[in-house]
Amino acid sequence: MIMKKYVSIGLCILMLGFPGYKLFAGSEKYELKTTEATLTIDQKGNLRIVKDKGQIIQINTSINNLWKVTLKNNLNGKESVFVPDKSVRLTKIDNILQLVKDNFSTGNTFIPVKVELTISVKDDAFCFSGSLKSDSKEWQIKEVLYPDISGIKINDKNVKIYWPNSLGECFDNPQLFGSKTFEYPCTNGSMAWFSVNSPDAGLYVGSHDSSRGSKKFALSFNDSDKSFRTSINFPVYTYEFSIPDVMVKPYGGKWYNASKFYRGWYDENFKLASVSKWTRENAGLMLTILKQQNGSVMWNYKDVDKLCDIGEKLNIKLIGLWGWAVGGHDRLYPYWPPDNLMGGRKELEKAIERAHKRGFKVIVYSNGTIMDASTDFYLYNGIETMQLNERKQPAIEYYLKHSNTTPVIQVRACPGSAKWRKTIMDLALNAKSLGVDAFYIDQVGVRSPIMCYSNNHDHSVPQEAYTKYRVKMMHDIRNRMKEIDPEFSIITEGTIDELLTDIDVFHGLGPGSIITPNAFPEMFRYTFPESIIIQLNASPANDRYNANYATIYGLRHEIMSRYEADAEYLKSGKIPTAENYAECYVNDPPVLSTMNKVPAQEVTSYTHDLLQFENDNADFFRNGKFIDEDGLKVSGNDILAKGFTDGKRIGVVVWNRNLSEKRDFSITVPGYNLVKSAEPKMQVANASSPLDANSIRLLIFEKN
Ligand SMILES: [Zn+2]
Repeated sequence: MIMKKYVSIGLCILMLGFPGYKLFAGSEKYELKTTEATLTIDQKGNLRIVKDKGQIIQINTSINNLWKVTLKNNLNGKESVFVPDKSVRLTKIDNILQLVKDNFSTGNTFIPVKVELTISVKDDAFCFSGSLKSDSKEWQIKEVLYPDISGIKINDKNVKIYWPNSLGECFDNPQLFGSKTFEYPCTNGSMAWFSVNSPDAGLYVGSHDSSRGSKKFALSFNDSDKSFRTSINFPVYTYEFSIPDVMVKPYGGKWYNASKFYRGWYDENFKLASVSKWTRENAGLMLTILKQQNGSVMWNYKDVDKLCDIGEKLNIKLIGLWGWAVGGHDRLYPYWPPDNLMGGRKELEKAIERAHKRGFKVIVYSNGTIMDASTDFYLYNGIETMQLNERKQPAIEYYLKHSNTTPVIQVRACPGSAKWRKTIMDLALNAKSLGVDAFYIDQVGVRSPIMCYSNNHDHSVPQEAYTKYRVKMMHDIRNRMKEIDPEFSIITEGTIDELLTDIDVFHGLGPGSIITPNAFPEMFRYTFPESIIIQLNASPANDRYNANYATIYGLRHEIMSRYEADAEYLKSGKIPTAENYAECYVNDPPVLSTMNKVPAQEVTSYTHDLLQFENDNADFFRNGKFIDEDGLKVSGNDILAKGFTDGKRIGVVVWNRNLSEKRDFSITVPGYNLVKSAEPKMQVANASSPLDANSIRLLIFEKN
């Protein structure tokens, strides 16, 4: 057996036709096949991928442009970039194509770095992988780009690009899409895949990397020949590296199949955090800054009672205390004791207890990524905790709440610092000791995989700081808090699937969490229908259109009270003007149109009724799975309809987005019968009557 295998491998080792090299015999091509597609490499090194016979999806690229390696000389700091040349060997062993380069040279310098790149079929997709190894301590592998695939053509007039920016974006014009990149993992690269689709077929490109390491995806459209080019770049910064699998998969059907493919891989490697009942069934967050960065106190601890009164009117049962400690919002952090000016620790504990008695939950703010440079913490612990760039300099950030106050200088921290992770852990434990139900760690889910070059931290390579140790920080804190209280929850800002294993809820940021021109929250919500995401609504008013948007995507709702005029709006219903914010030098006021279109009372009562409608149908809105329009037939001008399933039934939420006119619509679910219909404030509604302007209806279907 051993001898037979040896012979068969020997016969398969063929050399490919770079100039000056002997071609393999005749017209043979290297070929790999998936169920739906074929990959071939011909004598000239042309790499071709077609779905079926290439009617819709065709890729024509070359192995001569397929990779790029950057090496760094440790003695002089110089970098050298290498691309394929004629010394690359192409072989096929056991159905794996290998591109091998044994070493490099620059000038007269020999560089003992070996590159072995592979193309194979894995999970019914073309898998690009491989390894690099430097046998010289003088030469470090800085980064590798693989694969770099150009000549991607989708032969259809209706090409859409599904892009994982936050909850997702969808571009229906490749020209306008142009050229974009995203880094994974961060909120601008919330998942490690994208797809380019016609209505009937698509191309999936995703990284299936169980180490959740840092990488950068690029996609560009060449308008002259109407082709796409994509590449993935991996930071390495070491002497040996295994390239995580990059999956390229032409597939039939809608983008849902790309989403399911990614989720299938995710589930083989990770388990989503199990979320407590109250957290899953919570309708929204009332984010309240008690004390602003400039020292202005809008609410004392005793006023938590008033916040509960407001929450009751809105049907929001999670009171968020931001700016709750001595420094106010984003000031003197992480020196963070309760403020005596606002009533002191005991007053805060009592207020939280009273909120609990009324059925409210309370969450307090912290930040997982920055520290105030004016604190003793920074002075004495900064060097141990701060992130440093390649020149060993700190990163400075400003969050200017008011234009007339001296900017608070924030220095970016590194989760690779054990001292920093302990600092956030201690803040969480302290918050728990106040009696709160959940802890908010700001910005952790937002950050790109920032490089940290500090020698004082646990990470061995700079890109681990915000990948491996970000996860560890959240994992350790959440586990510790769950040991103390299994119902306790951790919320962070941003959206990344990397943290779905170690947080309970995301406070959204970016497209889909807010309404933007290409926002496509369907992408993240369909891939991770269990995800709990709070809509970003930086206003004390929950504008009806915005609120309906959150409902239809199963997002949790939000209002924010950040400034004096916001607080006044919530207390008395007084509608603020631009001058009210300007006279307080507010830099980032809420959008006035969210507040001044209708009386505050109307906004409040609609929010209350909408959230009650969701609570009454929690099987779909809270505990159900978002299925988008998969399996639904929807028609009607201005109509948007999205489905949720509770495992047996399908609830379809229909929204007439027209702001002034009623609209007819038609919704059917093949294989299902309509059994019930409901609307906010209407437990039984007429399912087929036209839907009022900017209104929502739920249609419930049962299997035939
Ligand atoms: Zn670090």
